[in-house]
Amino acid sequence: MPLMSCRCRRPILRTLFILLSVSVCLVISHPAWVAARQDVFIVLDPGHGGDDAGVIGAGGATEKDLCLDLAERVKKKIDQLLGYPTFLTRSRDETLSLQERAAQANNHLGTVYISIHLAGFPDQSVHGFGIYYLRQVHGGPLPSEKGSDGLSLWNTQQAAYLDQSSLLAEALHQEFIKDFPSDTDLGVHALPVYPFGALSMPAVLIEPAVLTNPVQEGLLRKEAFREEIADAIFQGIRVFVKADHGGGDHE
Ligand SMILES: [Zn+2]
Repeated sequence: MPLMSCRCRRPILRTLFILLSVSVCLVISHPAWVAARQDVFIVLDPGHGGDDAGVIGAGGATEKDLCLDLAERVKKKIDQLLGYPTFLTRSRDETLSLQERAAQANNHLGTVYISIHLAGFPDQSVHGFGIYYLRQVHGGPLPSEKGSDGLSLWNTQQAAYLDQSSLLAEALHQEFIKDFPSDTDLGVHALPVYPFGALSMPAVLIEPAVLTNPVQEGLLRKEAFREEIADAIFQGIRVFVKADHGGGDHE
């Protein structure tokens, strides 16, 4: 917007008036920028924690510690390169229920939810990456934990986001195929992932590597490999947000 005209005669007052006008212009003329930032809120959920170590590799590396490290790396990239608000469901080694994670994401009005885990298989030779989103039972309610707590209505929230969750999963999948060509593609799968039914935003669970595979455990101990994984997750999020929000990044 054009600066307002100034009739002030005193230089100091004129300067103050111009500074005030510039400030008003900067605030008023960028509503799209402000709106764009509020449209995207990325929730990163490091799996397990506290009493729950998750998968433990043969060499002793724990899923809970590695997932937190990966989530922090992804958050840092988003903070530095995209500037979208982000939230970690846990930022330390603490026990957190699945319901608490979902509640935090919904309470923060998240628009993208990525739960980061590592896979474990009885067969130690299995390695690679896999991505999961919620499968709705056809004609029936979304799956919820057996014997759970009266959250059945809440657990239908994800129904409205299944298509976007599938697109988010595929965006991540493509990045991993590109960045980890020698790893096994364990695929994108729709599964009854509890408590994803409660999430009112596109949501996926990613297992970027297999901790029971000794080679991958060795790689996961190396910062460079964790950084590569974080970068692939970051790129998948970037591609999805850009498509879903009409070019919401700032490259
Ligand atoms: Zn896990």
